[in-house]
Amino acid sequence: MIPVMIPMLGEEEAEAAAEAVRSGWVAQGPRVARFEREFAATVGAGHGVAVSSCTTALHLALVVRAVGPGDEVIVPSLSFIATANAVRYVGATPVFADVDLATGNLTVETVDAVRTPRTRAVIAVHQGGVPFDTAALRKAAAGWGLALVEDAACAAGSTAYGQPAGAGAAIAAWSFHPRKVLTTGEGGMVTVDDAEVATRLRRLREHGMNVSAADRHASAQPVLEAYLETAYNYRMTDIQAAVGLVQLGRLAGLVAQRRELAARYHELLADIDGLVPVRDPAYGQSNYQSFWVLLNPAFRTGRDEVLAELARRGVSARRGIMAAHLEPAYADVAPGPLPVTERITRDSLILPLHHRLTEDDQKHIVGVLRELAH
Ligand SMILES: *Cc1c(COP(=O)(O)O)cnc(C)c1O
Repeated sequence: MIPVMIPMLGEEEAEAAAEAVRSGWVAQGPRVARFEREFAATVGAGHGVAVSSCTTALHLALVVRAVGPGDEVIVPSLSFIATANAVRYVGATPVFADVDLATGNLTVETVDAVRTPRTRAVIAVHQGGVPFDTAALRKAAAGWGLALVEDAACAAGSTAYGQPAGAGAAIAAWSFHPRKVLTTGEGGMVTVDDAEVATRLRRLREHGMNVSAADRHASAQPVLEAYLETAYNYRMTDIQAAVGLVQLGRLAGLVAQRRELAARYHELLADIDGLVPVRDPAYGQSNYQSFWVLLNPAFRTGRDEVLAELARRGVSARRGIMAAHLEPAYADVAPGPLPVTERITRDSLILPLHHRLTEDDQKHIVGVLRELAH
Protein backbone atom coordinates (compact mmCIF):
# COMPACT_ATOMS: atom_id res chain seq x y z
CA MET A 1 0.00 0.00 0.00
CA ILE A 2 1.30 3.50 -0.83
CA PRO A 3 0.53 5.54 2.33
CA VAL A 4 -0.88 9.05 2.09
CA MET A 5 1.79 10.42 4.48
CA ILE A 6 4.87 9.13 6.34
CA PRO A 7 6.66 11.31 8.89
CA MET A 8 10.36 11.79 8.03
CA LEU A 9 12.06 10.54 11.19
CA GLY A 10 15.69 9.40 11.21
CA GLU A 11 18.30 8.07 13.60
CA GLU A 12 19.08 11.70 14.53
CA GLU A 13 15.61 12.12 16.06
CA ALA A 14 15.89 8.79 17.90
CA GLU A 15 19.30 9.80 19.26
CA ALA A 16 18.07 13.25 20.33
CA ALA A 17 15.10 11.74 22.20
CA ALA A 18 17.40 9.20 23.88
CA GLU A 19 19.80 11.96 24.87
CA ALA A 20 16.95 13.90 26.51
CA VAL A 21 15.93 10.79 28.45
CA ARG A 22 19.53 10.14 29.56
CA SER A 23 19.86 13.74 30.76
CA GLY A 24 17.18 13.08 33.36
CA TRP A 25 15.24 16.20 32.33
CA VAL A 26 12.20 14.94 30.45
CA ALA A 27 9.47 17.53 31.21
CA GLN A 28 9.44 21.08 29.80
CA GLY A 29 12.97 22.43 30.16
CA PRO A 30 15.98 23.75 28.24
CA ARG A 31 15.22 21.87 25.01
CA VAL A 32 11.70 23.32 24.91
CA ALA A 33 13.13 26.83 25.40
CA ARG A 34 15.60 26.30 22.56
CA PHE A 35 12.96 24.81 20.27
CA GLU A 36 10.73 27.84 20.91
CA ARG A 37 13.51 30.26 19.95
CA GLU A 38 14.58 28.37 16.85
CA PHE A 39 11.04 27.70 15.63
CA ALA A 40 10.01 31.34 16.09
CA ALA A 41 13.10 32.47 14.16
CA THR A 42 12.35 29.97 11.36
CA VAL A 43 8.77 31.18 10.86
CA GLY A 44 9.64 34.85 11.28
CA ALA A 45 7.82 35.35 14.60
CA GLY A 46 8.91 37.36 17.63
CA HIS A 47 8.21 34.74 20.33
CA GLY A 48 7.33 31.06 20.44
CA VAL A 49 5.44 29.33 23.27
CA ALA A 50 5.46 25.53 22.95
CA VAL A 51 2.31 23.65 23.94
CA SER A 52 0.92 20.12 23.73
CA SER A 53 -0.88 20.47 20.36
CA CYS A 54 -2.24 22.97 17.88
CA THR A 55 -5.65 22.42 19.44
CA THR A 56 -4.40 23.69 22.81
CA ALA A 57 -2.48 26.46 20.99
CA LEU A 58 -5.76 27.67 19.42
CA HIS A 59 -7.49 27.50 22.81
CA LEU A 60 -4.82 29.67 24.48
CA ALA A 61 -4.81 32.09 21.53
CA LEU A 62 -8.52 32.77 22.11
CA VAL A 63 -7.97 33.08 25.88
CA VAL A 64 -5.31 35.79 25.44
CA ARG A 65 -7.56 37.60 22.97
CA ALA A 66 -10.23 37.64 25.75
CA VAL A 67 -12.81 35.83 23.62
CA GLY A 68 -15.63 34.40 25.71
CA PRO A 69 -19.34 33.71 26.12
CA GLY A 70 -21.54 35.92 23.95
CA ASP A 71 -18.79 36.42 21.37
CA GLU A 72 -18.89 35.08 17.84
CA VAL A 73 -15.72 33.80 16.16
CA ILE A 74 -15.68 33.38 12.40
CA VAL A 75 -14.01 30.15 11.28
CA PRO A 76 -13.98 28.15 8.06
CA SER A 77 -16.17 25.05 8.29
CA LEU A 78 -13.69 23.57 5.79
CA SER A 79 -10.97 22.68 8.30
CA PHE A 80 -9.97 20.00 10.73
CA ILE A 81 -12.61 20.11 13.47
CA ALA A 82 -10.17 21.42 16.10
CA THR A 83 -10.44 24.92 14.55
CA ALA A 84 -14.15 25.17 15.44
CA ASN A 85 -13.82 23.24 18.72
CA ALA A 86 -11.35 25.79 20.13
CA VAL A 87 -14.07 28.45 19.88
CA ARG A 88 -16.38 26.37 22.03
CA TYR A 89 -13.65 25.76 24.65
CA VAL A 90 -13.86 29.47 25.59
CA GLY A 91 -17.68 29.46 25.55
CA ALA A 92 -17.92 31.49 22.35
CA THR A 93 -19.99 30.68 19.25
CA PRO A 94 -18.34 29.51 16.01
CA VAL A 95 -19.79 31.12 12.89
CA PHE A 96 -18.92 29.31 9.69
CA ALA A 97 -17.71 31.28 6.67
CA ASP A 98 -17.30 29.90 3.15
CA VAL A 99 -13.95 29.58 1.39
CA ASP A 100 -12.30 30.29 -1.95
CA LEU A 101 -12.54 27.40 -4.43
CA ALA A 102 -8.87 27.51 -5.52
CA THR A 103 -7.17 27.78 -2.11
CA GLY A 104 -9.77 26.36 0.29
CA ASN A 105 -9.22 29.43 2.47
CA LEU A 106 -11.26 32.27 3.97
CA THR A 107 -11.22 35.52 2.02
CA VAL A 108 -12.10 39.10 2.97
CA GLU A 109 -15.43 38.65 1.15
CA THR A 110 -16.44 35.36 2.80
CA VAL A 111 -15.60 36.71 6.27
CA ASP A 112 -17.44 39.97 5.62
CA ALA A 113 -20.54 38.04 4.54
CA VAL A 114 -21.03 36.51 8.03
CA ARG A 115 -19.78 39.37 10.21
CA THR A 116 -22.21 40.66 12.87
CA PRO A 117 -21.98 43.17 15.74
CA ARG A 118 -21.15 40.21 18.02
CA THR A 119 -18.11 39.09 16.00
CA ARG A 120 -14.97 39.33 18.14
CA ALA A 121 -12.38 37.31 16.25
CA VAL A 122 -11.56 35.36 13.09
CA ILE A 123 -9.56 32.15 12.88
CA ALA A 124 -8.10 31.93 9.38
CA VAL A 125 -6.47 28.64 8.33
CA HIS A 126 -3.58 28.11 5.91
CA GLN A 127 -5.43 25.07 4.63
CA GLY A 128 -3.27 22.07 3.81
CA GLY A 129 -0.29 24.42 3.71
CA VAL A 130 -1.82 26.77 1.10
CA PRO A 131 -1.38 30.25 2.56
CA PHE A 132 -4.43 32.49 2.84
CA ASP A 133 -3.96 36.05 1.60
CA THR A 134 -2.19 37.33 4.74
CA ALA A 135 -1.92 40.95 3.55
CA ALA A 136 -5.60 41.21 2.65
CA LEU A 137 -7.06 39.43 5.71
CA ARG A 138 -4.77 41.07 8.29
CA LYS A 139 -5.64 44.48 6.90
CA ALA A 140 -9.38 43.76 6.78
CA ALA A 141 -9.46 42.30 10.31
CA ALA A 142 -7.63 45.36 11.67
CA GLY A 143 -10.08 47.63 9.87
CA TRP A 144 -13.06 45.81 11.36
CA GLY A 145 -11.48 45.83 14.84
CA LEU A 146 -11.39 42.01 14.98
CA ALA A 147 -8.66 39.82 16.46
CA LEU A 148 -7.15 37.57 13.79
CA VAL A 149 -5.87 34.19 14.99
CA GLU A 150 -3.92 32.33 12.32
CA ASP A 151 -4.33 28.54 12.31
CA ALA A 152 -0.96 27.62 10.82
CA ALA A 153 -1.23 23.95 11.86
CA CYS A 154 -0.20 22.81 8.37
CA ALA A 155 1.91 25.79 7.30
CA ALA A 156 5.49 25.32 8.58
CA GLY A 157 7.58 26.07 5.48
CA SER A 158 4.80 27.80 3.51
CA THR A 159 5.32 31.39 2.38
CA ALA A 160 3.19 34.45 1.64
CA TYR A 161 4.49 37.61 -0.03
CA GLY A 162 8.01 36.17 -0.01
CA GLN A 163 8.09 35.59 3.75
CA PRO A 164 7.29 32.63 5.99
CA ALA A 165 3.50 32.37 6.37
CA GLY A 166 3.74 33.21 10.10
CA ALA A 167 5.82 36.36 9.64
CA GLY A 168 3.84 39.42 10.60
CA ALA A 169 1.08 37.40 12.31
CA ALA A 170 -0.06 38.93 15.61
CA ILE A 171 -0.78 35.39 16.83
CA ALA A 172 -0.51 32.01 15.10
CA ALA A 173 -1.00 28.38 16.16
CA TRP A 174 1.12 25.51 14.80
CA SER A 175 0.90 21.71 14.91
CA PHE A 176 3.61 19.06 15.16
CA HIS A 177 1.29 16.07 14.69
CA PRO A 178 2.84 13.38 12.41
CA ARG A 179 0.34 14.25 9.64
CA LYS A 180 2.06 17.65 9.34
CA VAL A 181 5.40 18.38 7.65
CA LEU A 182 7.36 18.79 10.92
CA THR A 183 6.56 16.46 13.83
CA THR A 184 7.29 15.94 17.52
CA GLY A 185 4.78 13.06 17.87
CA GLU A 186 2.20 15.39 19.37
CA GLY A 187 2.91 19.04 19.99
CA GLY A 188 2.14 22.60 19.06
CA MET A 189 3.31 26.19 19.32
CA VAL A 190 1.79 29.62 19.67
CA THR A 191 3.84 32.36 18.02
CA VAL A 192 3.21 36.01 18.87
CA ASP A 193 4.71 39.40 18.11
CA ASP A 194 4.21 40.78 21.63
CA ALA A 195 6.49 39.85 24.57
CA GLU A 196 3.82 40.47 27.21
CA VAL A 197 1.37 38.18 25.44
CA ALA A 198 4.12 35.54 25.27
CA THR A 199 4.61 35.82 29.04
CA ARG A 200 0.88 35.36 29.65
CA LEU A 201 0.84 32.34 27.30
CA ARG A 202 3.76 30.75 29.18
CA ARG A 203 1.80 31.13 32.38
CA LEU A 204 -1.45 29.81 30.90
CA ARG A 205 0.18 26.62 29.66
CA GLU A 206 1.70 25.95 33.10
CA HIS A 207 -1.09 26.15 35.70
CA GLY A 208 -0.94 29.96 35.89
CA MET A 209 2.44 29.87 37.69
CA ASN A 210 4.44 33.08 37.75
CA VAL A 211 7.74 31.16 37.54
CA SER A 212 8.25 28.06 35.40
CA ALA A 213 9.08 24.72 37.00
CA ALA A 214 12.32 24.70 34.97
CA ASP A 215 13.41 28.09 36.37
CA ARG A 216 12.48 27.03 39.90
CA HIS A 217 14.66 23.92 39.63
CA ALA A 218 17.53 25.87 38.08
CA SER A 219 17.59 28.42 40.91
CA ALA A 220 20.12 27.99 43.75
CA GLN A 221 17.72 29.75 46.13
CA PRO A 222 14.27 28.42 47.00
CA VAL A 223 11.69 30.12 44.77
CA LEU A 224 8.13 30.38 46.00
CA GLU A 225 5.80 30.37 43.04
CA ALA A 226 2.39 32.03 42.90
CA TYR A 227 -0.60 30.95 40.83
CA LEU A 228 -1.95 34.09 39.19
CA GLU A 229 -4.99 32.75 37.37
CA THR A 230 -6.86 29.53 36.68
CA ALA A 231 -4.95 27.94 33.84
CA TYR A 232 -3.97 24.65 32.19
CA ASN A 233 -1.30 22.02 31.82
CA TYR A 234 -0.58 22.30 28.10
CA ARG A 235 3.19 21.78 28.32
CA MET A 236 5.43 20.14 25.74
CA THR A 237 8.11 17.72 27.01
CA ASP A 238 11.86 18.09 26.47
CA ILE A 239 11.80 14.70 24.70
CA GLN A 240 9.40 16.15 22.10
CA ALA A 241 11.41 19.38 21.77
CA ALA A 242 14.62 17.37 21.22
CA VAL A 243 12.93 15.67 18.26
CA GLY A 244 11.55 19.01 17.09
CA LEU A 245 14.98 20.62 17.01
CA VAL A 246 16.27 17.92 14.65
CA GLN A 247 13.11 18.19 12.54
CA LEU A 248 13.58 21.95 12.24
CA GLY A 249 16.93 21.32 10.57
CA ARG A 250 15.16 19.17 7.97
CA LEU A 251 12.30 21.58 7.25
CA ALA A 252 13.72 23.42 4.22
CA GLY A 253 14.78 20.16 2.56
CA LEU A 254 11.46 18.46 3.28
CA VAL A 255 9.50 21.37 1.80
CA ALA A 256 11.76 21.52 -1.29
CA GLN A 257 11.20 17.79 -1.85
CA ARG A 258 7.42 18.09 -1.35
CA ARG A 259 7.30 20.91 -3.89
CA GLU A 260 9.22 18.79 -6.43
CA LEU A 261 6.80 15.91 -5.94
CA ALA A 262 3.86 18.32 -6.32
CA ALA A 263 5.38 19.69 -9.55
CA ARG A 264 5.63 16.15 -10.91
CA TYR A 265 1.97 15.51 -10.01
CA HIS A 266 1.06 18.71 -11.89
CA GLU A 267 2.91 17.47 -14.99
CA LEU A 268 1.45 13.97 -14.87
CA LEU A 269 -2.10 15.20 -14.21
CA ALA A 270 -2.06 17.93 -16.85
CA ASP A 271 -3.84 15.94 -19.56
CA ILE A 272 -6.67 14.59 -17.39
CA ASP A 273 -9.92 16.48 -17.96
CA GLY A 274 -12.30 17.05 -15.11
CA LEU A 275 -9.72 17.25 -12.36
CA VAL A 276 -8.10 20.34 -10.82
CA PRO A 277 -5.02 19.91 -8.60
CA VAL A 278 -4.26 22.40 -5.82
CA ARG A 279 -1.65 25.02 -6.78
CA ASP A 280 0.26 27.93 -5.29
CA PRO A 281 -1.79 31.12 -5.07
CA ALA A 282 -0.34 34.20 -6.81
CA TYR A 283 0.88 35.68 -3.49
CA GLY A 284 2.66 32.69 -1.99
CA GLN A 285 3.88 29.11 -1.94
CA SER A 286 2.41 26.00 -0.32
CA ASN A 287 4.56 23.47 1.52
CA TYR A 288 2.11 20.94 0.00
CA GLN A 289 1.35 19.45 3.41
CA SER A 290 -1.74 18.17 1.56
CA PHE A 291 -1.90 17.68 -2.19
CA TRP A 292 -5.58 17.60 -3.10
CA VAL A 293 -7.38 17.32 -6.42
CA LEU A 294 -10.90 18.59 -7.05
CA LEU A 295 -13.11 16.48 -9.32
CA ASN A 296 -15.31 18.42 -11.76
CA PRO A 297 -18.62 17.12 -13.20
CA ALA A 298 -16.65 16.06 -16.33
CA PHE A 299 -14.83 13.42 -14.24
CA ARG A 300 -16.81 10.22 -14.84
CA THR A 301 -16.29 8.55 -11.45
CA GLY A 302 -17.58 9.87 -8.11
CA ARG A 303 -15.10 10.78 -5.37
CA ASP A 304 -15.90 7.88 -3.02
CA GLU A 305 -15.63 5.36 -5.86
CA VAL A 306 -12.26 6.90 -6.85
CA LEU A 307 -11.03 6.41 -3.26
CA ALA A 308 -12.28 2.81 -3.26
CA GLU A 309 -10.62 2.00 -6.59
CA LEU A 310 -7.33 3.60 -5.50
CA ALA A 311 -7.44 1.45 -2.34
CA ARG A 312 -8.04 -1.69 -4.44
CA ARG A 313 -4.96 -0.73 -6.50
CA GLY A 314 -2.74 -0.27 -3.45
CA VAL A 315 -3.05 3.50 -2.96
CA SER A 316 -4.13 4.98 0.33
CA ALA A 317 -5.69 8.34 -0.62
CA ARG A 318 -8.01 10.31 1.67
CA ARG A 319 -11.23 12.24 1.31
CA GLY A 320 -10.66 15.97 0.98
CA ILE A 321 -10.69 18.34 3.92
CA MET A 322 -13.68 17.85 6.21
CA ALA A 323 -16.48 20.35 6.79
CA ALA A 324 -17.25 20.80 10.50
CA HIS A 325 -20.84 21.96 9.90
CA LEU A 326 -21.70 18.54 8.40
CA GLU A 327 -20.58 16.63 11.53
CA PRO A 328 -22.93 15.56 14.35
CA ALA A 329 -20.96 17.70 16.84
CA TYR A 330 -22.18 20.82 14.98
CA ALA A 331 -25.70 19.64 14.12
CA ASP A 332 -27.10 22.37 16.39
CA VAL A 333 -25.47 25.13 14.31
CA ALA A 334 -27.52 26.49 11.41
CA PRO A 335 -24.93 28.07 9.10
CA GLY A 336 -25.71 30.26 6.13
CA PRO A 337 -25.03 28.84 2.67
CA LEU A 338 -21.57 27.27 2.30
CA PRO A 339 -21.65 26.12 -1.35
CA VAL A 340 -17.89 26.15 -1.99
CA THR A 341 -17.11 24.36 1.29
CA GLU A 342 -19.64 21.63 0.45
CA ARG A 343 -18.32 21.33 -3.09
CA ILE A 344 -14.70 20.92 -1.97
CA THR A 345 -15.41 18.49 0.87
CA ARG A 346 -17.65 16.33 -1.39
CA ASP A 347 -15.57 16.30 -4.59
CA SER A 348 -11.92 16.43 -3.51
CA LEU A 349 -9.39 13.84 -2.45
CA ILE A 350 -5.89 14.00 -1.01
CA LEU A 351 -3.18 12.06 -2.88
CA PRO A 352 -0.13 10.43 -1.25
CA LEU A 353 2.83 12.78 -0.81
CA HIS A 354 5.82 11.89 1.35
CA HIS A 355 9.60 11.56 1.21
CA ARG A 356 9.53 7.92 0.05
CA LEU A 357 7.09 8.48 -2.83
CA THR A 358 8.78 7.45 -6.10
CA GLU A 359 8.19 8.54 -9.68
CA ASP A 360 6.74 5.08 -10.38
CA ASP A 361 4.33 5.48 -7.44
CA GLN A 362 3.15 8.80 -8.84
CA LYS A 363 2.75 7.35 -12.38
CA HIS A 364 0.72 4.44 -10.94
CA ILE A 365 -1.55 6.78 -8.93
CA VAL A 366 -2.13 9.11 -11.89
CA GLY A 367 -2.65 6.09 -14.18
CA VAL A 368 -5.55 4.90 -12.00
CA LEU A 369 -7.05 8.41 -12.02
CA ARG A 370 -6.73 8.58 -15.82
CA GLU A 371 -8.67 5.31 -16.19
CA LEU A 372 -11.44 6.60 -13.93
CA ALA A 373 -11.69 9.99 -15.69
CA HIS A 374 -13.58 8.74 -18.75
C1 LIG B 1 -4.07 19.21 12.36
C2 LIG B 1 -4.82 20.48 12.51
C3 LIG B 1 -5.18 20.99 13.76
C4 LIG B 1 -4.96 20.22 15.03
O1 LIG B 1 -3.60 20.00 15.31
P1 LIG B 1 -3.21 19.10 16.58
O2 LIG B 1 -1.77 19.42 16.80
O3 LIG B 1 -3.42 17.67 16.17
O4 LIG B 1 -4.07 19.50 17.72
C5 LIG B 1 -5.80 22.22 13.82
N1 LIG B 1 -6.08 22.92 12.71
C6 LIG B 1 -5.77 22.45 11.47
C7 LIG B 1 -6.08 23.28 10.27
C8 LIG B 1 -5.15 21.22 11.34
O5 LIG B 1 -4.86 20.75 10.11
